[in-house]
Amino acid sequence: MEMVTKILATTNEVSLKGRNRKWFEQKITENVRRVLADLQLERVERPAWRVLVTFSAPVPFQEAARRMATVFGIASIMPVENVGHTTDDVISALPQRLEGLNPSSFAVRCLRSDKTFPKTSIELERDLGSEVVALTGWKVDLTHPDLTVHLLVDRDGLYLWTRRVAGPGGLPSGSGGKATCMLSGGIDSPVAAYQMMKRGVRLDFVHFHSVPRTDPASLEKVVDLARILARYQGRCRLAMVPLLPIQEQIVANCPARLRVLLYRRFMIRISQRLASRFKAPALVTGESLGQVASQTIENLTAVESIARVPIFRPLISLDKQEIINTARRMGSFETSILPHFDCCSFLVPERPATRSTPRELDKAEESLDIDSLISEALAGVEIMTIDEPAPWSDIPIPHGAEDLS
Ligand code: ATP
Ligand code: MG
Repeated sequence: MEMVTKILATTNEVSLKGRNRKWFEQKITENVRRVLADLQLERVERPAWRVLVTFSAPVPFQEAARRMATVFGIASIMPVENVGHTTDDVISALPQRLEGLNPSSFAVRCLRSDKTFPKTSIELERDLGSEVVALTGWKVDLTHPDLTVHLLVDRDGLYLWTRRVAGPGGLPSGSGGKATCMLSGGIDSPVAAYQMMKRGVRLDFVHFHSVPRTDPASLEKVVDLARILARYQGRCRLAMVPLLPIQEQIVANCPARLRVLLYRRFMIRISQRLASRFKAPALVTGESLGQVASQTIENLTAVESIARVPIFRPLISLDKQEIINTARRMGSFETSILPHFDCCSFLVPERPATRSTPRELDKAEESLDIDSLISEALAGVEIMTIDEPAPWSDIPIPHGAEDLS
């Protein structure tokens, strides 16, 4: 097991943000502190637009890297060592650092954030390169090296590293505003949530259930999914909404082929009311074009014509397999595939409409008292706060850290 006392992380896209850069870096720092707090964390600093984490005692690198891979805005995660202040210090640290490695070729890359250092980056790369050749006999390849030996020259010392673990990319949580995600118990909506969080959006969640027609135990699964998502942003809210009375009215009064579309309209109407309560006035769904009858362009359009807030559908163009790949990577897949009884999986007609229109749905709703159905549902809402601080037992291992357990 590789133990470390320092980790350096690079940040993603943040350099593009000009004036906001400081704020972005600060958000990332806060989030790194949040996920590492109980792990002998000593301090988090920001040399040269990077994030430098120092632990008060050695910690397993893989555990720290897994946690840091939940912090959006981080591009890569490296176990680094402060080897001293002079070129000679670096040279004496090389044998231990390169031990056990056997690359087909290598290059040295140097980053000099301390411009007062007596050697330029190019001089340092050349000097260290020839030291490595003398030490190991490895072949130099500056264009496609198998291994890169990195050196950061910072004011508080020289940092050396060779391993690089992929971060999640994206933008720091909170930098992209707020939205409310309609969370079912399935595979898709947690992935939609993850994708929006990745762009810096903070989310609260709404779930519709048909208790007592469905098992109250199925609500546990949705809470578990919200807990998994909370790892990526910290605390969030989850509203549980009773949909059964509305479904019964729709079944009794409206054409069977439009049922699912009408359920969805009510979900949107209620979600946007909750979204305004959460001060997160945009909706997110896990819909993907053509996946089921309710997700044709015509039906999505007919359903959303009653929406008063924007609806984001980050999965609209993705294949199921692509969605599943992300679900595995972010850790929701195993929970999503547990059996559950979705509120839409009963009272569903055999031949649902595939091409509805706003007008057709408006007409089908004429016999319903929409406002009082919404008020009744809102009166039965239960809102819970979900928080899931580290440690987490089952978070995925990021790419590049697989061999470290
Ligand atoms: P998922 O895998 O997320 O359940 P799905 O492929 O089963 O999605 P639908 O059941 O048609 O698709 O739902 C489409 C979207 O509508 C979901 O991704 C989710 O955003 C929202 N939705 C569906 N059912 C519910 C529910 N019970 N509570 C909250 N949102 C829901
Ligand atoms: Mg579903």
